[in-house]
Amino acid sequence: MVIKPKIRGFICTTAHPVGCAKHVEEQVEYVKHQPKFDGAKKVLVIGSSTGYGLASRIAAAFGGGADTIGVCFEKPASDNRTATAGWYNTVAFEELAKKEGLFAATVNGDAFSDEIKAQVIDLIRAHMGQVDLVVYSLASPRRTHPRTGETFSSVIKPVGDPFHSKTIDVNSGKVSEVTILPATEEEIRNTVAVMGGEDWEMWIDALREADVLAANATTVAYSYIGPELTFSIYREGTIGQAKNDLEATAKRLNEKLSVTGGRAFVSVNKAVVTQSSSAIPVVPLYISILFKVMKEQGLHEGCIEQMYRMYADRLYIGTAAPTDDRGRIRLDDLEMRPDVQDTVMRGWDEIDESNLFDLSDLAGYRSDFLQLFGFGIEGVDYEADVNPDVPMAEAGSTK
Ligand code: NAD
Repeated sequence: MVIKPKIRGFICTTAHPVGCAKHVEEQVEYVKHQPKFDGAKKVLVIGSSTGYGLASRIAAAFGGGADTIGVCFEKPASDNRTATAGWYNTVAFEELAKKEGLFAATVNGDAFSDEIKAQVIDLIRAHMGQVDLVVYSLASPRRTHPRTGETFSSVIKPVGDPFHSKTIDVNSGKVSEVTILPATEEEIRNTVAVMGGEDWEMWIDALREADVLAANATTVAYSYIGPELTFSIYREGTIGQAKNDLEATAKRLNEKLSVTGGRAFVSVNKAVVTQSSSAIPVVPLYISILFKVMKEQGLHEGCIEQMYRMYADRLYIGTAAPTDDRGRIRLDDLEMRPDVQDTVMRGWDEIDESNLFDLSDLAGYRSDFLQLFGFGIEGVDYEADVNPDVPMAEAGSTK
């Protein structure tokens, strides 16, 4: 079939297998051209198929020579539907890793469940013995609690007062005002249950109990802070409450793991275009302006540059990882530089539909968004007939 993008709001319901594979290959090539680092050799990435998790897996494998196990929640092709981008990304990653002589297996299923945790533990036992790095990079709209069976849905809302701001419809380029009403207590609790640290801690506890976590293992989960203009909707909103919980979990995990030489961190990453960030109101307009400023200043980074830097310049430098005063790794250092933020804020105040393409990199945002689904990648023939039904290697797939 000839596969074209079908965009519905902030998602694309199709993905291109050849484009996704090429996109993964480009990230692999980027890492291969950087100096190698002496990092973890047996790595588990939870949320491994897209965005920051995929980049974490690629950088660990091709920059540090690591065997990897990934966990993701992706759909294969069916009837006349393509598979999800994360499915194609995973197939492409495994192929490239195996070519390099690295072990790579992926468990496709609900990471929040006890069943998937048990399956991963069996896989580690069979192929790795123990893991020495666990990356936790899930972004999910819902979670079913493995003990109570309760299903929580996360929301992106302010806490306390309504939030009023400029926003953009990325597809039409329409800039408008949006008001988002504050979350209820129940919605805050649900969002923390989905995106907070409880499941991360369950993973680490399960791996330790099964003795498949190395004594000196590192674990890292991802967070975001961003500028004041997004505080109400992000850092001080429902998702920010979940990130506070994630950071408190990192402290607790660090206390547990450091007894045997292990460590736990939250890494604060920069704003990038991913399937998750495109769903947050206001953030796409901020990202479009940020990209323009960072590209002009030669500071622009995507997921792969950030994740390579996390290993090579933070986690595996041979001494203690540099952190802020709250123990967090900061990869948002360039985004938060005062000169970058001052220019972004001036753009934010002035931007409207008349100057959109002068003050923002909306074109770059749109292009990154399409690339998430394998579209707009150089060298791919989008008129060619391709088979969307690409199998994922047997060892990993649960479906
Ligand atoms: P993403 O949507 O690209 O990736 C989410 C991953 O989680 C995918 O691999 C998906 O398959 C997996 N997943 C979702 N539900 C699952 C489930 N139930 N079981 C197994 N796997 C599941 O998201 P992302 O933007 O890369 O976000 C990853 C982390 O990085 C999040 O904690 C996010 O808050 C953080 N972060 C993102 C940004 C940003 O700008 N995108 C910035 C800083 C921090």
